[in-house]
Amino acid sequence: MAKDKKKLVEAITAQEVDFAQWYTDICKKAELVEYSSVKGFTVLRPYGYAIWENIQQDLDARFKATGHENVAMPMLIPESLLKKEGELVNGFAPEVAWVTTGGSEPLEERLAVRPTSETMFCDHFARVLQSYRDLPMLYNQWCSVVRWEKTTRPFLRTREFWWQEGHTIHETQAEAEAETEQQLNCYADFCEHDLCIPVIKGRKTDKEKFAGAEATYTIEAMMKDGKALQSGTSHYFGDKFSRAYDVTFTGRDNTLQYPFQTSWGCTTRLIGAIIMTHGDDDGLILPPAIAPIQVVIVPVAAHKPGVLEKAQELAESLKSVARVKLDDSDKAPGWKFSQWEMKGVPLRIEVGPRDLEQGQCVLVRRDNREKQFVKLEDLPTAIPAALEALAKALYDRALENREARTFAATTMDEVQELVKTKTGFIKTMWCGDVACEEAMKEKAGLSSRCMPFAQEHLSDVCPVCGKPAKTMVVWGIAY
Ligand code: AMP
Ligand code: ZN
Repeated sequence: MAKDKKKLVEAITAQEVDFAQWYTDICKKAELVEYSSVKGFTVLRPYGYAIWENIQQDLDARFKATGHENVAMPMLIPESLLKKEGELVNGFAPEVAWVTTGGSEPLEERLAVRPTSETMFCDHFARVLQSYRDLPMLYNQWCSVVRWEKTTRPFLRTREFWWQEGHTIHETQAEAEAETEQQLNCYADFCEHDLCIPVIKGRKTDKEKFAGAEATYTIEAMMKDGKALQSGTSHYFGDKFSRAYDVTFTGRDNTLQYPFQTSWGCTTRLIGAIIMTHGDDDGLILPPAIAPIQVVIVPVAAHKPGVLEKAQELAESLKSVARVKLDDSDKAPGWKFSQWEMKGVPLRIEVGPRDLEQGQCVLVRRDNREKQFVKLEDLPTAIPAALEALAKALYDRALENREARTFAATTMDEVQELVKTKTGFIKTMWCGDVACEEAMKEKAGLSSRCMPFAQEHLSDVCPVCGKPAKTMVVWGIAY
């Protein structure tokens, strides 16, 4: 059966054979994304963009529920403004694209295409902030940014990517720190509940943190092949940027003060995370919460009297239950099955003349191919139940993969032995010295993913230098 299907829709590379090629095949064959004539820039196709829109809607509602408001900032940043915060500009310098001409006139000052908008937000805050009564300012922006990346891959690392960037300023340090944590938790909850991707929450080491941040927090996910994907970040800036950009307010005691600041972002990279966490050799598997189509109805023997009409009626009546699509194109049912499997639609309903006679249909789950006969009148309860069961199964399977590929080590020998045969997360203690972090990269090819909030005590010393170590780090190979 599986073989016949592959002949109907051109097969993709198997994960076992070449995971990277499998990923690229899905991006193209599920019609998510396409390359463009601008190197490193991709086009989000309607199906890919529809997934992004669902991610946006969901996150946007979460942000608004905690009092955030959306704004729009200029996409160009004057060089002199960008240079005001030294660390930020040094961190981003190698990745900035510049505009030097307006029409036919050379510009007096070059303008950076925003790689991130701390600069413009600070410039704006400085203009509008007056007193403590204006605080907090809880802003978010949906936009695209440009970072001139050297190597690119669809969704995971593109030169232009779509994202949201939250930027907030607060009266006190404690409030800003709480905001940083709240937004990290928001991302983690969204990933786990809606994308069915388990994540590790933690703090980045100084080497891996955002340029200019006092602290960077991250959610790290593991892909099917054992590699890590940084899936969202939340930064605490202290009053560093306020001081650099002269953002001040009159405090409760009537003195001039600097507000405390945060920023947080996640991007179209999340679509890459979905593909590589859940997909299989037949294509994409979409978590129901963000699937543009949750149920596809495929009529079987559609030429037989009544079949198409009944399928149409069914699609209409289920609209309030789920995002349903009727595929009434003239392709053969087998071809349609494979096509919608490639596109990762969570549930399929097959209706043929014999089923209709008995007032039932076949409900098929994309993840495990489980088939179930369901009475038509039971569909309004059977569909949500099946979607929920599928979401849980996706999460459980991803967690199982992560657990099977997570290893603890106490010596460098153990680490080096592990990386010879395994790809996954390796947990060790760490002394806090950047030299040991660099040695881990050189000797074992691993970068620090984070210092998890859920700490464990694995041993008393750093496996690299043997000095006392109190912090556990999760190491991995990152996308
Ligand atoms: P940052 O502003 O550097 O903290 O980035 C925010 C988030 O954007 C990171 O957590 C990554 O998940 C994601 N990201 C960074 N660079 C890229 C890129 N080139 N393409 C897509 N996503 C990216
Ligand atoms: Zn050490």
